[in-house]
Amino acid sequence: MTKTKNQMTLTFLATSENQAFARASAAAFATQLNPTMAELTEIKTAVSEAVTNAIIHGYEGLEGDNFVTMRCRLSDGEIYIEIEDSGQGIDDVQQALEPLYTSKPHEERSGMGFTVMSEFMDELLVDSVRDSGTLVKMRKKCASESFVVM
Ligand code: ATP
Ligand code: MG
Repeated sequence: MTKTKNQMTLTFLATSENQAFARASAAAFATQLNPTMAELTEIKTAVSEAVTNAIIHGYEGLEGDNFVTMRCRLSDGEIYIEIEDSGQGIDDVQQALEPLYTSKPHEERSGMGFTVMSEFMDELLVDSVRDSGTLVKMRKKCASESFVVM
């Protein structure tokens, strides 16, 4: 593993308000890598897709306070992002990763979330255990690492 330059962890309730919060937080953190606007948009979109999945699939029908954890780490001009839920998990991860696969074909879902994450990031790994939860790991290289004043 390469040397960590900075890292942060956020744990938040699985609500749609926090989907926007997670997206903005990841973007603010990633700014330290001096990404292009396009890279920043890609990171925000990938985080949105992963957090939305945790909320609408992971915790679907589960009562109580459900939490999502987002970990971000910067190292060598790359950002590593993990989105974890403790929800219902995915039976067949390979199938879930296929473009256009959705377990909710009758809702407005298009089955493109994982495809978007994998297109926009350099690496996407998904670990999932039925009734235990899902961990999505993503990595992306950003163009420049020079310091930027926010
Ligand atoms: P879209 O993202 O285009 O709105 P979608 O969410 O169905 O549609 P993906 O994001 O690609 O498509 O996810 C594919 C499938 O993987 C989902 O339909 C769901 O069955 C499963 N899935 C994804 N994330 C999780 C998760 N965190 N917990 C449980 N199941 C998940
Ligand atoms: Mg999705």
